[in-house]
Amino acid sequence: MSSENRTSVPNSLNEHWMPFTSNKDFKANPRLITEAKGVYLKTHHGKTQIDASSGLFCNPLGHGRKEITEAVTKQLETLDYAQPFQQGFGGSFELASRIAKHTPGDLNKMFFTICGSTAVETAIKIAVAYHRAKGEAQRFRFVGRERGYHGMNIGCVSVGGMVNNVKTFASILMPGVQHIRHTHLPEHKFISGQPETGDYLANDLETICQNFGGENIAACIVEPIAGSTGTLVPPKGYLQKLREICDKYGILLIFDEVITGWGRTGSKFGADEFGVTPDIMTMAKATTNGVVPMGVVACNDSIYDAVMDASPTGAVELFHGYTYSGIPVAVAAALAVQDIFEKDDIFNRAKNLAPYFQKGLFSLQDLESVDNIRGYGMMGGIDMKLNTKPGKAGFECFKACYEAGVNFKATGDCLIIAPQFICEEKHIDEIIDKLRTGITNYQKNQKN
Ligand code: PLP
Repeated sequence: MSSENRTSVPNSLNEHWMPFTSNKDFKANPRLITEAKGVYLKTHHGKTQIDASSGLFCNPLGHGRKEITEAVTKQLETLDYAQPFQQGFGGSFELASRIAKHTPGDLNKMFFTICGSTAVETAIKIAVAYHRAKGEAQRFRFVGRERGYHGMNIGCVSVGGMVNNVKTFASILMPGVQHIRHTHLPEHKFISGQPETGDYLANDLETICQNFGGENIAACIVEPIAGSTGTLVPPKGYLQKLREICDKYGILLIFDEVITGWGRTGSKFGADEFGVTPDIMTMAKATTNGVVPMGVVACNDSIYDAVMDASPTGAVELFHGYTYSGIPVAVAAALAVQDIFEKDDIFNRAKNLAPYFQKGLFSLQDLESVDNIRGYGMMGGIDMKLNTKPGKAGFECFKACYEAGVNFKATGDCLIIAPQFICEEKHIDEIIDKLRTGITNYQKNQKN
């Protein structure tokens, strides 16, 4: 295969070990995407699909945005790469300032990383570094949440709460991590928005503080809405309670906004939507509209100041960073994205479209194989009823929907739906119609 025809069918599928994929199943019957424009994708069979999940929550601005392509091209022609240690380039400072205008409270300091996982890993390290700088090196424990997803590096997997991601690596997890329960209760059936019940689940953090000593805990990390496990929306008052308990014990609250950041909830961040300001916030995905990998860790001023003040001038204050931290090409994409956010009033667009999307999403609840639906803003999860073994319904349904012309990801038995913000109502209709067709075909296939 020459570099000119990389989008068509390759000569061999054998050498590429694919991520989070049933490699054997895929290689027997591959699904290749060859083109993407706006809300549509094209498959190697020449079929058009509508993108119902913004890739992996990455492309809310649609595929093939000319403004981003032009900005990236120009950047590559001017300064393609500059190593980021002990020197810099102007763009990353401009980007940090522009992000700081949006982040809540005094989360004004940005550390750039490569992706969501490295953002979370960095947030963990910054939390530890902050407490050490304050003379509290005994705070090494972290609290995560069941059904949380924070990426796949060891720190991320340790604080995450998805069992399949942990099992194989259980022997090498980070020490000292406890988990609070997830917030999805059996009575939370077919709820769009925040459940009324379940805020008491935040008291799990209080219990962990009592059992291990709150003074030994560095941080509690949660997604404002758990995205990868299918839009688990926090009950009313829950995040506020977590904030109160963190404050009581001097624990940092980290919001992982890799999915919920940049408009997905209808506000800029989940923090804004739910009125709770964390101490550290992670972002990735939509930061560059998914076209160049980038992660960001936003920290409040006092965390940054504490780490700076603990070191003499001339010393490296935080021994952490990546070859690709805030590199020009990622920054160029992110700055172009910031321009589009402003120019197209993107956050309001998402907020205004959300009720229409939610109505469409919940119209699928009559399908007999659908067990539950959850939704908030421009995100939703459809739980499929168990089909002989966990994960089978989700995978079979994903494949039936792929054939029906709608593209998304399934996690276990949950279909993850997150349309692009550039969608018009007709695109939402198309997504919902094709989901109905795909799920109905899945049901028929099971009966045959
Ligand atoms: N955190 C959250 C909340 C995520 O949803 C993800 C990815 O889906 C990550 C972290 C990891 O991001 P990445 O895959 O870019 O490493």
